Amino acid sequence: MTATFEEKLQKYASLIVNVGLNVQPDQEVVVRIPIEAAPLARQLAIEAYQAHAKYVHLFYQDEQITLIRFQHAPRDSFDFFPTWYADALTGLAEEGAGFISVYATDPDLLKGQDPELISTAQKVAAQHTRRYAELLSKDYAPWTVVSAAVPAWANKVFAHLPEDERVSALWDTIFEICRVNEPDPVGAWRLHTEELARRSAYMNEKQYVALKFTAPGTDLTVGLPEHHLWTGGYGKTPDGVRFTANIPTEEIFTLPHKDRVDGVVRATLPLNLRGNLIENFWFRFEQGKVVEVHAEKGEELLRKLLETDEGAVRLGEVALVPQSSPIAKTGLLFFNTLYDENASCHLALGRAYRTSLQNGEDMTTEAFAAAGGNDSLIHVDFMMGSSDMDIDGVLPDGSTEPIFRQGEWAFEVS
Ligand code: ZN
Ligand code: ZN
Repeated sequence: MTATFEEKLQKYASLIVNVGLNVQPDQEVVVRIPIEAAPLARQLAIEAYQAHAKYVHLFYQDEQITLIRFQHAPRDSFDFFPTWYADALTGLAEEGAGFISVYATDPDLLKGQDPELISTAQKVAAQHTRRYAELLSKDYAPWTVVSAAVPAWANKVFAHLPEDERVSALWDTIFEICRVNEPDPVGAWRLHTEELARRSAYMNEKQYVALKFTAPGTDLTVGLPEHHLWTGGYGKTPDGVRFTANIPTEEIFTLPHKDRVDGVVRATLPLNLRGNLIENFWFRFEQGKVVEVHAEKGEELLRKLLETDEGAVRLGEVALVPQSSPIAKTGLLFFNTLYDENASCHLALGRAYRTSLQNGEDMTTEAFAAAGGNDSLIHVDFMMGSSDMDIDGVLPDGSTEPIFRQGEWAFEVS
């Protein structure tokens, strides 16, 4: 017997609450979700209260209101940010609340809007929520980012289908990729995240000094700092509670050395930047810094992004994802970083995760930077993996070992 949509939605919500966040008794839970996904919001609240959450704080988001602001608000008002909202998030994170962010946006929302205003709005939001982002990047509070099939997004991914079939096609794809169709999704996720954790452990043991990426258009060396930590599968709060920061997740990732990245890297998927698509772009790095950038489409916006601050031209994340991931297998472009980034090896410009370095959470900003950790207001992932990609790990004596061959893992873990 096949499960109904309602049954699948319930399983998906249970997965988000119990594996994504791993809600603990008496915990406060924050849900930020598009208004079109209200049925999921309600199901999440049911699951959270069944897990004995103390209170579910709900923030509905409406992208159309964002668009209306860009169309009609005074041009000089974009440096405003509602401080109360940033304060609320920060306060809740400090108290150890759990955060569910349902990320589903119209990739074309801000098409044609002034890049200057987009970048101002982005920068001001990042400045105000800096403390909150920092707490989450240190895994101080559990957090999980997931998606939901909303019409504007479904229209983009499934443009080739009749309009009334797109949302349910996207839900089906989300359920499939998130293993909701398996008999025991929670068990399947525990196995999957444990395999990712074992791959991380293998890489941590090796402590490669650098990774070399080779593919058509890419010849890049990414230095790895001493004591870098690979993470994959799950995170842990200071109380030792396991949570899964992204559903889906297929990656293991670590800290690139902010001053030791050299060579050329070509993106293999478009980058969706606040509703604008950057296409066919590449960067040239010298001593960690982007010194050359080219994009066939959206170059101006990409340059603006790099100008955000000093750390925006350096890397903060290097992540490995095999081409056999369930997302890559769909062959779809999702126009949504959470999905596309788990289809492919990727790098991120901007802020590094403190958890990617031993004792990184306890370091001062200066000590983290001295160790090779990047800091910035932005953290923007772009995909560069492909089935043509080879990756080698460089050992301290200069010899190399295969990590990836033709887009797949080249080592076994027991
Ligand atoms: Zn990543
Ligand atoms: Zn990232």
